[in-house]
Amino acid sequence: MQRAVPQEFDRVLSSMCTEPHPAAREAAVRFLATNPGDPATYQSVAELENRAVDALGELTGLPEAHGYVASGGTEANIQAVRATRNRARDEWPDAPETPNVVAPESVHFSFQKAADVLGVELRTVPVDEEYRADLDAVRASLDAETILVVGVAGSTEYGRVDPIPELAALADDTPGDGRTFVHVDAAWGGFALPFTDHAWNFAHADVDTMTIDPHKMGQAVVPAGGFLARERATLDALAVDTPYLESTSQATLTGTRSGAGVAGAAAALETLWPDGYREQFEESMADAEWLADELRAREFDVVDPELPLVAASIPDSLFDALRDAGWRISRTATGELRVVCMPHVTREMLRQFVADVDSFSN
Ligand SMILES: *Cc1c(COP(=O)(O)O)cnc(C)c1O
Repeated sequence: MQRAVPQEFDRVLSSMCTEPHPAAREAAVRFLATNPGDPATYQSVAELENRAVDALGELTGLPEAHGYVASGGTEANIQAVRATRNRARDEWPDAPETPNVVAPESVHFSFQKAADVLGVELRTVPVDEEYRADLDAVRASLDAETILVVGVAGSTEYGRVDPIPELAALADDTPGDGRTFVHVDAAWGGFALPFTDHAWNFAHADVDTMTIDPHKMGQAVVPAGGFLARERATLDALAVDTPYLESTSQATLTGTRSGAGVAGAAAALETLWPDGYREQFEESMADAEWLADELRAREFDVVDPELPLVAASIPDSLFDALRDAGWRISRTATGELRVVCMPHVTREMLRQFVADVDSFSN
């Protein structure tokens, strides 16, 4: 049988994953046979997970972070909703009958899964003309059963950062007697935002939980998502007893977990935080701005990149021709071309892409 080979990254412009850093790859292979799902048995990978969580805490302004390396942003988001639901049920003076979660419509589709699995209502509200959460719309949809307000720090479609401190202030003013929690989804943006002047993290606002994925801009190995919580009680709200494991309780959603993912995340963070990530961000941001300028010069409507992600309206025929030429590109919900400037996306690659845009436009 022929040996299967994965695709090259040289034409991938649509993905939020990237080639892992060599240190992450090497660590992942070393820890392939470990299972951090039972940290008492697999102690060395458990130690790496603690280090990864500490590093993620440092990166997000939370020196005493609680959390773990999840399978991805989807799991981390589901866990944020689950922990909040459980805490509201146990801690509110009157447990909410139909808890609701308020989020901008730019929120990742994993929240639909969370709402479906957990039996909470997801209320998505419009964004403003800059694709950020509209504060008036958020305020209008909060009520006495709102357990969670979600802000996105680096949206999947346009790379936008919601006004997190303002959202946290609104959550604080929610009608009713129960405490409304705040979750920030920085699955993609979290490794870029430390090098910008955005207010997005635990130190900037009263944020309770956060999603930040090492397997996206963190250059770790898939699977490595990040779930972080300010309070120990949030992780405790997720824990179930685990008879017949060496560890006696488990807060993660999955049982057996990837030691390769955990070791890869720890190695990437150790190698790249902060200088490697800063350099990468500056390069990727410059690439995104370069691409935006080139497309604008060709009279396409371009959404200004706030993080390294460019969206632009191009004709369907051009989009199809680029795809046929092997470019892996995707569209926003409204049909714009979407290019994510991940670490594997180089200026040279973008030059070739723009050259193809020119040749297919004629
Ligand atoms: C990618 C992404 C997710 C989902 O993460 P997975 O690792 O694919 O499960 C969640 N939120 C945002 C903002 C994302 O960009």
